[in-house]
Amino acid sequence: MGLKGRDVISALDFSRAEVEELFRLAERLREEIAERRILDYARGRLMATVFMEPSTRTRLSFTYAMIRLGGAVVDFGPEAATSRAKGESLEDSLRMVDGYGPDVIVLRQGTPGMAEKVAEVCEAPVINAGDGWNEHPTQALLDVYTIWRELGRVDGVTVGIMGDLKHGRTPSSLSYMLSLFDGVKIWYIAPDPLQIRPEVVERVEGRVEYSKTSKLEDVIEELDVLYVTRLQKERFPDPEEYERLKGSYRVDADFLRKFRKIPIIMHPLPRVWELDESVDSLPQAKYFEQAVNGMYVRAALVKEILGI
Ligand code: ASP
Repeated sequence: MGLKGRDVISALDFSRAEVEELFRLAERLREEIAERRILDYARGRLMATVFMEPSTRTRLSFTYAMIRLGGAVVDFGPEAATSRAKGESLEDSLRMVDGYGPDVIVLRQGTPGMAEKVAEVCEAPVINAGDGWNEHPTQALLDVYTIWRELGRVDGVTVGIMGDLKHGRTPSSLSYMLSLFDGVKIWYIAPDPLQIRPEVVERVEGRVEYSKTSKLEDVIEELDVLYVTRLQKERFPDPEEYERLKGSYRVDADFLRKFRKIPIIMHPLPRVWELDESVDSLPQAKYFEQAVNGMYVRAALVKEILGI
């Protein structure tokens, strides 16, 4: 695979063959980790993690992935405890991180498009772990990996992506990665003010079939996957608009049981009020497995980028 030394900025940076190869490698690493706990592929290698927006799963799963590969991780720490609080620019901070010689940098920060700029000044490969509302390519990897594991295929699947599609970075990256496969249909399910951004549909146009709706009940029986997302409260310019839209969509077990067919339920997490805990005990609930899958597919990605 030709991922060695590559930056990962967008879900569209991958080819279909690369994505499928990563899934197969993730399966192999899953077995090796079950047997040996800590492997030695990345002995002597360093990962720098820099998270300037909150993160639970992405930071932890990259850290676990690197340590399980046998490497070490240096974390930048909370932004408030660094020179960023003294006014240092993101580029300067990252130039320093890069100067200490990590083999790979994992970066999350709030400005759309900034991951690409940082990657240009850094010698180490940069993995975009979320750039504001724009993209989160490794989330898309674990999302599509979960679909592939659960359904045994990605070609021809119908996926409903629901929630705050306007401010979310996971609906865009997921759409891009699904567009690498054949015959995929996407339903964008959201109240009008939260519908998918025009640039996303422009980029998938002609590569997936898509439609928009505000009513889950009209399309749920068509879906193989329902991917729920939270309202991105922190990205609402107007707190009143958030309050107005809060609770405008919600999935619980009683609602799902009304239908002949329940799709698998995914969510990038964290969930807030849009996905009720009553869904957790349904066999279709896959969001916690989805999060765990992230560690294996990120381990596969890091192994390939490091060329080890
Ligand atoms: N954890 C995901 C992200 O970082 C989803 C979310 O925050 O709603 O984008």
